[in-house]
Amino acid sequence: MLPIRSRCLLSVRLYSTTTTGATSTCASHPTINGASQKLAKSNLPSIPSPRSLKTFLDEYVIGQDVSKKVLSVAVYNHYLRIFDRVKKQRMREGQLQFLEANVSDKNDEPTYVPNSEAEQGMRNLKRQVDSLKPISNNNKKMGDSDLELSKSNVMVIGPSGSGKTLLATTLARVLDVPIAITDCTQLTQAGYIGEDVEVCIERLLVNADFDVAKAEKGIIVLDEIDKLAKPSASIGTKDVSGEGVQQSLLKIIEGHKVQISVKRPVKKKDAEADKPGNKSVVKKEETFTIDTSNILFMIMGAFVGLDKHVAKRIKKLKEIDTPKSEEDVAKEEKEEETKINNKIEEVELENGEKVSALNLATPVDLVSFGIIPELVGRVPIITALQPLQNDDLYHILKEPKNALLDQYEYIFKQFGVRLCITDKALRKVSEFAQKEGTGARGLRGIMERLLLNINYECPESGTHYVLINEKTVDSLQQSKYSLASHVQAKYYSRGQLFDLMNDVSEEDAALAKRLDKEVNGITALPQ
Ligand code: ADP
Repeated sequence: MLPIRSRCLLSVRLYSTTTTGATSTCASHPTINGASQKLAKSNLPSIPSPRSLKTFLDEYVIGQDVSKKVLSVAVYNHYLRIFDRVKKQRMREGQLQFLEANVSDKNDEPTYVPNSEAEQGMRNLKRQVDSLKPISNNNKKMGDSDLELSKSNVMVIGPSGSGKTLLATTLARVLDVPIAITDCTQLTQAGYIGEDVEVCIERLLVNADFDVAKAEKGIIVLDEIDKLAKPSASIGTKDVSGEGVQQSLLKIIEGHKVQISVKRPVKKKDAEADKPGNKSVVKKEETFTIDTSNILFMIMGAFVGLDKHVAKRIKKLKEIDTPKSEEDVAKEEKEEETKINNKIEEVELENGEKVSALNLATPVDLVSFGIIPELVGRVPIITALQPLQNDDLYHILKEPKNALLDQYEYIFKQFGVRLCITDKALRKVSEFAQKEGTGARGLRGIMERLLLNINYECPESGTHYVLINEKTVDSLQQSKYSLASHVQAKYYSRGQLFDLMNDVSEEDAALAKRLDKEVNGITALPQ
């Protein structure tokens, strides 16, 4: 875990620079280069390294190691590209200023040139001016300064509740950039009932407090993109909410200047504010132009069924290499019949390791799923999250920053109750959540049901400690068809600390030790 100081240093304001879209063609004059490079680099914040980004993600997101790495590198390169554009633009401006000042001065002078060194200098400067003109087609090999890094948006595939949104919001937090999450199922093509695709930019601008420069370096999450998949039956028909929306998204994802009109809350002038019935804030319509070239688009979806498609494709490839016997075919058919429907298909790699088939999804698979090729082409980085396992869910309950366990302990502390949940109880909760198949999202619902009655009973009841053990969670499971109020927990007053310690020690020695420490060693641990 990063120390607090380094975490603070990590959080950088990436929107503190300005940028324009021009490509640069750089001069090689040492004086111009030296000065303009210095200027170009000044005031640019440093980007946290991929390793630091991953370390930060580790604090909030359990598991998903490969995706955390992929996203850390993608985000690092994305902001590297933005700053590279800023640097080159500044260098270009610096060079032009320098050249304009020098060349025009010299040109105004009479033909007399004092010495050959100056003559040489003038020739160099003229060459610099020429080199700033657009590059001809036959001069194909560019120097570093002429390279323009292309935009890399990211696709995150993963089952519901596996941490897709959490990854995006955590990255936005560490980079201190605004983020807007839009559910693609709400979008329709312009002119139809529903939200236009521009709504995602509008939300980003609002989240950036109407600061255009800040919004232009933010992150837009387009969630549930898989729900826009083009059904094969729709070919030839007008599909305004699926393929039509995908088409509308192309321009903004690639980088485009978008004009949006937003109602912005503004404070009324004092004189007006004093009038009776007047509210001090009114909404005023304003038009903003947002360049989306530097906005990072993270496109997400569960892509239900894509795993089966990928697994089938890989199976076919394997069959070409090693044809199957009749026995194998019969065995596989039987396996297919007994497969649990919502389980993500796995594929065996050459080294025998089994991975989620989603990890091997290619752009062609996404196109087969119904995402239009033009959109797939604009999102070159694809990463797949793993379905969370029992163990992951257990860790999610207690380990990440802002963990659910911490949150509930805090709530109970507010009304003077120490909530004690044993490790075995937490394990049971995670088992329960996995059976429900809703990923980490299900954990919250289970905890709410588990704690509802306890939360109702405890405040102002004289209870000082409440214990939730394995039995308590079992009682919740039994009440599947009855009310959550049947949950059986144990309640203790302040004077019953010793009883509590006894009961806790039976199931969770580490928790008993922590409790003992909390009460400053007043009691000895029960033997
Ligand atoms: P989705 O994949 O559907 O976007 P979310 O990122 O919204 O899922 O996750 C829902 C909730 O579950 C989050 O608020 C977070 O608390 C928790 N969660 C999901 N995955 C993880 C994970 N890998 N590590 C920690 N918490 C997680």
